[in-house]
Amino acid sequence: MRKKIIAGNWKMNKTADEAQALLSEVINMVKDEVTGDVKVVLCTPSLYLASAQQQLTPGGKVSIGAQNCHEKASGAYTGEISAPMLQSIGIEYVILGHSERRQYFGETNAQLAEKVNIVLQNGLVPIFCCGESRDLRENGDYIGFVKDQLTESLFHLSAESFGKVVIAYEPIWAIGTGLTASSAQAQDMHFELRQHIAGQYGDTVAQDTSILYGGSANAQNAAELFARPDVDGGLIGGASLKAADFLTVVKAAQ
Ligand code: PEP
Repeated sequence: MRKKIIAGNWKMNKTADEAQALLSEVINMVKDEVTGDVKVVLCTPSLYLASAQQQLTPGGKVSIGAQNCHEKASGAYTGEISAPMLQSIGIEYVILGHSERRQYFGETNAQLAEKVNIVLQNGLVPIFCCGESRDLRENGDYIGFVKDQLTESLFHLSAESFGKVVIAYEPIWAIGTGLTASSAQAQDMHFELRQHIAGQYGDTVAQDTSILYGGSANAQNAAELFARPDVDGGLIGGASLKAADFLTVVKAAQ
């Protein structure tokens, strides 16, 4: 049975005090108000990961995730953080291949394959982002493009390793733009990706893979998106920065 997951991507937002306030509010609200079977992942800026991790209740619904990590285990890579470092402070999840990382930091599918490897070797769960540009959606083979992202970064994995990966479909044209994919557009792509996974790893693995939607998902549209059979939750940017909005999104996934 695949998991329902709501991951909040805080990106480069919040001072230390603001981050602490948001974290406490979300942890308390989830504890008091979320009864269903949904995993909540808070992907904070790296600076706050260790203190955030220390505030979790073991066995609770909330986990902490990083927004990126380097593909090497250690070394002369000034400013970077590694998967073993994340693992050493108890972090469970890492977003990999967010479109902002691909766009502003030139991350490639081949580099992401290496990041996926080191993350899995260290017992962390990669939340692997994929998605097409607006130009491709309007003029090109956008489904083929997104399938290729999976093929090139993930399909070297064994079925057992692939089974640990979470996919986040995030059409670039919908991220931070207020333009959400319709629930039908999200469902169509998630269905295609699940078929693609089934072609490589078989139906059982495909059915067990959580595929999240990301791109201007919010308190208003989450319930409709998550009602689709192949949408297993969301990767939430802007709406994860206000506890009440984020809680509404989490509840929509229960
Ligand atoms: C994201 O950054 O992953 C994202 C989906 O952002 P937003 O929800 O703000 O579009």
